[in-house]
Amino acid sequence: MNSFTFYVTFHPKACPPEQPITIGFERVTTSLLNSIKGYRRVFMHSGNWWRLSERIRTPSRILSSLRKLSEVCNVEGFMSINIPPKVDIQNYDIWNLPKEIRERALKRSLEYADILLQSSPKTTLYCSYEVGTLEDSMKWYRIALEHGHVAFGAGFAGFLMGRIRVEAYKRMIEVIVGARSVIGDKPFHASGVASLKLLPIICYAGATSADGSTPVRVALAMGQVYDITGKAHGVLRLERWNCTCRMCSEYGREIIKLLKDDYNLRVRHNIEVWNENLAVMNEALREGRLEEYITRRIGRSPLLRKTFEYARELRRRLLRR
Ligand SMILES: [Zn+2]
Repeated sequence: MNSFTFYVTFHPKACPPEQPITIGFERVTTSLLNSIKGYRRVFMHSGNWWRLSERIRTPSRILSSLRKLSEVCNVEGFMSINIPPKVDIQNYDIWNLPKEIRERALKRSLEYADILLQSSPKTTLYCSYEVGTLEDSMKWYRIALEHGHVAFGAGFAGFLMGRIRVEAYKRMIEVIVGARSVIGDKPFHASGVASLKLLPIICYAGATSADGSTPVRVALAMGQVYDITGKAHGVLRLERWNCTCRMCSEYGREIIKLLKDDYNLRVRHNIEVWNENLAVMNEALREGRLEEYITRRIGRSPLLRKTFEYARELRRRLLRR
């Protein structure tokens, strides 16, 4: 594994056709198909379970969306259905649930994934779970492998909603390292992770790709732009802006006014920041300097340091490296 891909939520006016983008299967409509035409790196996710009823999240709906999407753009991968053991995004602690409740959800997720696999899709299918413990991860990704799956994934949006919890971060690391310990060098997708400081850690733990909406959502809903270090700034209060990203360099001194007036430019800028960070991270990964990069990137944050330390310890224990 020497490259990590971040698929950003599709925002037509801010994503060039070569940008890796993600779209939820439920959003594949005629107007979406018109705007996504010609995009070269698309990932179709099925992760938004807290917004969708179970009636909508079915293999046949997923396949129908995949077929339509594949006709107009290049779909690199798609997720099966990660059934949550409990539908509660406010108190997301699936790891504390009784084993039989967790296993029921995991079993159903695998059944859905198997149905999708049997349809022999030409696009890579990521067998996905809503999984929260090391034990479950090792067990259920191993079973998926035995069922013939060749790519894997997990929904992590629930882990990251609400207040920041050390335990949620640790559980996420357990799921990824646990999966990596049984799937060998096959792809692993982390759905719903977009934090610039978390992405290098989940890459280190063993994820090969992720998708998320932060750069887009924050620019649109909160009017915020990120600087290259990953710090968010409200555009209305922006007085100085020394960004040297590809987009800001193009506009020169009027950039502050433009960022205040044009939300599409805010999104474009944020995506540039993500791309530039990912490029530096991937270079470090290729050159075997990822640990050094992470140490520098996470700075003094006690939460991230603990999370990284835990990833190191688990990797030593389970991956022997
Ligand atoms: Zn910029």
